[in-house]
Amino acid sequence: MINRERIVDEFLKLVRIDSPSLHEREIADYLKQKLAGLGLEVMEDQAGRAIGNQVSAPAGNIIAILKGNLPAVPAVLFCCHMDTVEPGRGVRPVIRDNTIYSDGTTVLGGDDKAGIAAILEAIKVLKENNIPHGDLEFVFTVAEETGLQGSKNLDFKRLKAEFGYVLDSDREAGTIITSAPSQYRIKAAVIGKAAHAGICPEEGVNAIFVASTAISRMKLGRIDGETTCNIGVISGGKATNIIPDMVHLEGETRSIDPEKLEKQTDLMISILERTAGEMNARVEINKEFLYPRLQLDESSRVVEIATKAAAGIGKEPVLTSTGGGSDANILNGYGIPTANLGIGMNKVHSTEEFITIEDLVLNARYILEIIKTTPHCQKHDKLG
Ligand SMILES: [Zn+2]
Repeated sequence: MINRERIVDEFLKLVRIDSPSLHEREIADYLKQKLAGLGLEVMEDQAGRAIGNQVSAPAGNIIAILKGNLPAVPAVLFCCHMDTVEPGRGVRPVIRDNTIYSDGTTVLGGDDKAGIAAILEAIKVLKENNIPHGDLEFVFTVAEETGLQGSKNLDFKRLKAEFGYVLDSDREAGTIITSAPSQYRIKAAVIGKAAHAGICPEEGVNAIFVASTAISRMKLGRIDGETTCNIGVISGGKATNIIPDMVHLEGETRSIDPEKLEKQTDLMISILERTAGEMNARVEINKEFLYPRLQLDESSRVVEIATKAAAGIGKEPVLTSTGGGSDANILNGYGIPTANLGIGMNKVHSTEEFITIEDLVLNARYILEIIKTTPHCQKHDKLG
């Protein structure tokens, strides 16, 4: 039922529209027109303004609703992001051996336009074949690549979906991501005291030494099976003859377990504070909660349907976890159990990015299969 030529054409059109993060106006307008033309109810939320970027016409998230023709079937959400990473302007797609690449000077932008193309094709097929379905909600977010900013500012009250799927993992189709950690970012300024390094070093407090002592007291990397942490940025100091009075540190903590996340974050902060206190320095710390965890029960409806649908398109369903965050984390935080699905993207965030035409088609089939499977999986109440 999938029109192979049509989905390829649509995908090529989408990747040719420039949409680096915070510059999604053109693709948002394109999708609004396209979705309205297909008979969906389309709206744009205020996320663009809320994010507060400097663009004159910031785009919000696009929310599109396709009313169902089956009663008592739960509403299902599908979500992709519209933005791409750089270099992502002037993409010239090239097809070689049934695989789509960029010309090597930009990313392809299949992350996440492969998902968008699959959604559009699935909607067309639903309509052409009068396939019965429940209410379907589609969300196209802005600024995913800059820290899930679009989904964080999503007007989620407009959604009624009982569960959902984000199409944004570079794993193979059939891979269902059911677990991803929550994350904190920690920024710290270690403040010592400047002094001439040759004339009066005893009057100074070396912020580099304080920061490095604190870091040496931390365990970094993998803390346990569910928890990781890192100090990833360190900067400070002006010259070799000055005792440095300021060092900036940036780090992060991630865990599937909310308690462990708090514990690890507080531990790193307390080591910084204690070390600074012992060494006559000060610290100013900013801890920012970036996103909640994604943790879906294997027996939940959202997972059960994705599993059955994967088998339905001839793929081995694989439930797995990831260490990264996606819009699925944010949607779960809103109370919509949402899995992130593999869509077969390759080498994303690089100029070697590619996707096969077979995977484009498979993704559209998978979406359709999920929609067709949903009416037959109503035995559970809201789970997640
Ligand atoms: Zn992505």
